[in-house]
Amino acid sequence: MAAIEMSFIVDVNAGKLARWLRMMGYDTLFFNDIEDGHLVDIALKERRVVLTRDTQIMRRRVATNGQLKVILATDDDPKEQLRQVIEELNLDCRLRQFTRCLECNHSLVPKNREEIADIVPPYVFSTQHQYMQCPSCLRVYWQGTHWQKMKKALDGLSQRNH
Ligand SMILES: [Zn+2]
Repeated sequence: MAAIEMSFIVDVNAGKLARWLRMMGYDTLFFNDIEDGHLVDIALKERRVVLTRDTQIMRRRVATNGQLKVILATDDDPKEQLRQVIEELNLDCRLRQFTRCLECNHSLVPKNREEIADIVPPYVFSTQHQYMQCPSCLRVYWQGTHWQKMKKALDGLSQRNH
């Protein structure tokens, strides 16, 4: 299985990881409040890798017999957790950056300036030319300073790996 086809479900105790994985374009589910059993059910049904800081999920039979792929994040720092996941699964940091909504995990759709003129702040509109929008929550993304900071962090992670 190519790494890019992987999808994830992130446990409540590792929530920040979800945003980073979405930033990389990986289909990543995250719920603020979900029981272990439910999380495991979804992971099995949708063939998602479970990312957790909770050793209890690791001890479940479906995890020990290999039916369920679980990665136990060993560090408190979300960026270290991300590095661990990237290394263990050999994920590609660059292939599909910023193609997925960080908030709700939907695939983003490219928009031209005219379409989002009423949504983005005037300063952004006058300086940015490429936009992506989430068809679900309607959030608009552009390559501003926040975007550049995240991209730099991701590029840094991938350089340390390859
Ligand atoms: Zn969204």
